[in-house]
Amino acid sequence: ALPKLTLANPQAKALAYTENAAAVKHPVFKAGSNCANCTLYKGAKGQAYGPCTLFPQNTVAAKGWCSAWAKKA
Ligand code: SF4
Repeated sequence: ALPKLTLANPQAKALAYTENAAAVKHPVFKAGSNCANCTLYKGAKGQAYGPCTLFPQNTVAAKGWCSAWAKKA
């Protein structure tokens, strides 16, 4: 399995990645958005972590968020 994305990862930092979307205070944050409902998230439903197209070396938190979030179609 891929290792979890860390907050120390430079790209994670650049995109303000967090494992807790509920606490995000970022100007582009839309209420209710998180990795699980992002179009780039490829994780299975019900799993706490899953792959993200943007971070191919890692998994991200289903309840996480980053500023590249885009609504799942
Ligand atoms: Fe989460 Fe989407 Fe950002 Fe990937 S691109 S870390 S799924 S919000």
